Amino acid sequence: MKRLWSTDAIVLSRFDLGEADRVLTLITPLEGKVKVIAKGVRRPTSRLGGSVEPFAELRLQLAHGRTFDVVTQVSVGHAWLALRDSLESTATAWYLAELADRSLEERHPAEPIYTLLKRAYELLDAGMGPGRVARWFEMHLTDELGMRPEVDRCVECDRMLEPGDTFRWVPPLGGVLCQRDPGPPAERTGLSLDALKLLKAYQRLDIAALAALRVAVRTEREVEAAMRDFVRVSLERDARSLPFLDLVRAGPGPRLAGRAPEVAQPIETHS
Ligand SMILES: [Zn+2]
Repeated sequence: MKRLWSTDAIVLSRFDLGEADRVLTLITPLEGKVKVIAKGVRRPTSRLGGSVEPFAELRLQLAHGRTFDVVTQVSVGHAWLALRDSLESTATAWYLAELADRSLEERHPAEPIYTLLKRAYELLDAGMGPGRVARWFEMHLTDELGMRPEVDRCVECDRMLEPGDTFRWVPPLGGVLCQRDPGPPAERTGLSLDALKLLKAYQRLDIAALAALRVAVRTEREVEAAMRDFVRVSLERDARSLPFLDLVRAGPGPRLAGRAPEVAQPIETHS
């Protein structure tokens, strides 16, 4: 007799297997990251059909299997359909899923990161700016991983930064470095006071306050670059979904014309 178990889950990535099956990488609250198989799901007649998709909170029933547990039933808890209306929020959703995927070991409880991803998808679905959602997610993800960026004190001398100081952003050292400390020459970039303030805001403000912030585009870009560097160092590599996100944000150029978002899933993974 096969033992069954049930869980909430969000699909992080997937790849096709054989004629009609699909292997899904899920994030679940209690089991963390789990790879499961949805058998026959690519057949038009499949009962599981279109339900086992990314960008939705699913309720799954699974049977223990030899290599992968097998999806036996699925229902959709939250579909977050509005998230898919914009290519940028869709690309951002893939990027966040990839970050969650890379942050997790299989079969380790991951409730905080599950909650973070679910909240991020709710915010994208509600129409919050994808850049704001992504920065908020990156900041809280690094926090959950125990790598929260230091934005108040110099990472070398522990001095509290003060207005009028100049400072540098040094991700390998964990945050900001004051001008008195040289730091590794190749690893430092200047950081404006506005960017530092915005980084602090991402650590301290709640969602409503973040959504209402008015910030110069230049500052948003500076913080985006700073957090990308930080996440790259924290996860020890670049996210593969970023080139797609950048392409989407560059505008509706000829390369994207007529392409459905479904064909451009940059984070399908066989790892
Ligand atoms: Zn210092």
